[in-house]
Amino acid sequence: MLISIKEFKMNRKVIILSLLTLFLFQACNNDKKPSESTTEAVKLASPDFDADSAFSYTKAQVDFGPRIPSTTAHAKCAAYLEEKFRSFGAQVFVQQAAAQTYDGKKHQLKNIIVALYPEKTQRILISAHWDARPFSDQDPDPKMKNQSFDAANDGASGVAVMLEMARQLQKKQPNVGVDFILWDIEDYGKANDESPNETTWCIGSQYWAKNQPVKGYKPLYAINLDMVGGGNAQFAQDEISRKYAANIVSKVWSIGNEIGYGAYFINMPSGSLIDDHFWVNQAGIPCIDVIHYTDNTGFYMNWHTQLDNLNNIDRNTLKAVGQTMLETIYREKPLVN
Ligand SMILES: [Zn+2]
Repeated sequence: MLISIKEFKMNRKVIILSLLTLFLFQACNNDKKPSESTTEAVKLASPDFDADSAFSYTKAQVDFGPRIPSTTAHAKCAAYLEEKFRSFGAQVFVQQAAAQTYDGKKHQLKNIIVALYPEKTQRILISAHWDARPFSDQDPDPKMKNQSFDAANDGASGVAVMLEMARQLQKKQPNVGVDFILWDIEDYGKANDESPNETTWCIGSQYWAKNQPVKGYKPLYAINLDMVGGGNAQFAQDEISRKYAANIVSKVWSIGNEIGYGAYFINMPSGSLIDDHFWVNQAGIPCIDVIHYTDNTGFYMNWHTQLDNLNNIDRNTLKAVGQTMLETIYREKPLVN
């Protein structure tokens, strides 16, 4: 995910201090697990989302090395993801195109598009980016700012949640069909991109929005996942999600709260973030963003640093997001025409 909130940088020192305080506070309270307290009481419509399985899919991606466009790790991971979704009975189509990043480098863009229950006309789209940012420019160590990093949360986690969702979806048929899109070249943007809509970021979703492979594609709504595996994650409700898809924000956040994940799906607004959901909305599909960000704390604390690695992936967060997504899907009733 990208930089967008300008005040965030100005308040960085304050934020780091707040995070330290928060960390110390949470270190003293680490036996408190918000996801386990209330879930038993609620009867779920959805199958059980297996957080260990989602963790293993995060690791599988990280094990390829950083999935930076035009690298071997990127190519191998793409092949793995295609194969894995196919193994869950999904139709997979790879949208490819020539693309150029702000540094003048040329790449082959690969958006991986997945359909489960393709015969169903009522559909929901879930998406996340699968590429890794080429440099950890937010790392506190100046020597590391040009280095690659594992992107375990910022990239792999959202894809891992979708893989585990697909594994569960193939076992129990929901009333709606489900599509997944794995965006490429989301995270290769220019730091402090001042352009309107920050077009050096989100290159895969921008391309898709302008070149939709299926004409007239119109899912009921879409949900983009970004950084959904970090510890103590909080997802605020960003301005673009609220502007274009307020009812979907309400639906997803209330389901998350109802099934025991209110510590994650917090009822707090946040400012405008240009993420892949912005471009899906430009294509006329109402789309929200579930992203580890609040105006108070900024992004996930290891965002774009060397510490965005597997050690800092928390199964509780994967579970909170994955179960809430599945529950949202399985509660959809078939529409009567
Ligand atoms: Zn990012």
